[in-house]
Amino acid sequence: MQTADVVIIGGGIVGSSIAYHLTAAGCRNVLVLERESAQGKGSTGKSMGGVRAQFSTPVNIQMSLYSIPFYASFEERLGYPCDYRPQGYLFCATQERHLAYLRANYERQVAMGLKNVRLVEGREIRQMFPLLRGDDIVGGSFCSTDGFVDPYSAMNSLMAWAVDHGAKLRKNCIVTGLVQDEQGIAAVETTEGSVATRRAVNCAGAWAAGVAKFAGVDLPVEPLRRMLVPSEPLDQFPHTAPMIIDMSNGFHFRPESRGFLLAWNDPEETPGFKTDFDMAFVEKILMRAADRVPCFADLPVNPKRAWAGLYEMTPDHHPILGEAPGVPGFFLANGFSGHGVMHAPATGRILSDLILTGKTDLIDVSLLGLERFAEGRMIHETAVL
Ligand SMILES: Cc1cc2nc3c(=O)[nH]c(=O)nc-3n(C[C@H](O)[C@H](O)[C@H](O)COP(=O)(O)OP(=O)(O)OC[C@H]3O[C@@H](n4cnc5c(N)ncnc54)[C@H](O)[C@@H]3O)c2cc1C
Repeated sequence: MQTADVVIIGGGIVGSSIAYHLTAAGCRNVLVLERESAQGKGSTGKSMGGVRAQFSTPVNIQMSLYSIPFYASFEERLGYPCDYRPQGYLFCATQERHLAYLRANYERQVAMGLKNVRLVEGREIRQMFPLLRGDDIVGGSFCSTDGFVDPYSAMNSLMAWAVDHGAKLRKNCIVTGLVQDEQGIAAVETTEGSVATRRAVNCAGAWAAGVAKFAGVDLPVEPLRRMLVPSEPLDQFPHTAPMIIDMSNGFHFRPESRGFLLAWNDPEETPGFKTDFDMAFVEKILMRAADRVPCFADLPVNPKRAWAGLYEMTPDHHPILGEAPGVPGFFLANGFSGHGVMHAPATGRILSDLILTGKTDLIDVSLLGLERFAEGRMIHETAVL
């Protein structure tokens, strides 16, 4: 039987980052199992690639305070690209309660050590982006080190570095079971045979609850469809723009290639493994786009280029990180609730620390343990896009 020090189940950006961090910390026998013929066929390849530190909870801010500088120095560290573009995130408030919310978040972010975030007045937003309809914008917040990465490159680069340094990636290999003995995890069963290991990490994204069941663990991670609509080339709006968020309805957009990528989370969406793109969504999103950016009324869109993917949602919109209660050696890195790309670097560091040393100083990881749901210790993130 093949053996590995650590088996990572799932080769998306989270599994790749854990493989990178374990390998960088000196762990050599890391095996990543990916059921598809190529990486990126899960949520990572569908992501909008936004990275931000403008969160409302200290633990999410801390995760970003590690992850964004990691992306900023990615090429230097790895010698591979991730295409980090620090164009910022601009939240546009249209009500006084939005402003109060942004101010409270801003104060928390600054107290946690975030630099480059500032509150902006409505007047300044209108000056910065005269093509936005700004009559109802009362202010906002902007952080210049927020921005975008190319999730697919970041994922491939993390894995390529790990493989260069001894990790193994096996594709077309579906994990079908987990074997336990009195010490905890003993082996991972796959369609290509079993792998003996004392440590397995669940990085199966939206499919994580199914993998957790193999170990008898109930994981509250639900798939939720999200759809994105790219535009055709358009030069009227600046391509240096940040991610702009209209807080009146959640519509947001960012430059992408020679056009723009439009997003809006339909509150009527229901959980499930739905990955088909709903053509009716195009009209819903274009209506909101034209309302906030009048020149988008003529935005050329080819619906055939639009796509859908899955968020992996938890009840409190925070990930579940750490060893599963009652199953020694079974680690969880799941439920990123729309933030898995931006928090992949911190997750890799945290999981690598926990696997190799049993503790981490990056965050108070007890806050994100699976036990929090049974113990009534949920910590709600409200800045979810
Ligand atoms: C439309 C959209 C926009 C998004 N925008 C952003 C954004 O702007 N910023 C951000 O940070 N996040 C964003 N996200 C969320 C982000 O994409 C995810 O949180 C992140 O990709 C999760 O990474 P992952 O590695 O956990 O999961 P995945 O990328 O889904 O990888 C999981 C892997 O596990 C494999 N797998 C599953 N079961 C098994 C098994 N039994 N055996 C072997 N392999 C298995 C799958 O094939 C898959 O490759 C977005 C998501 C979507 C859908």
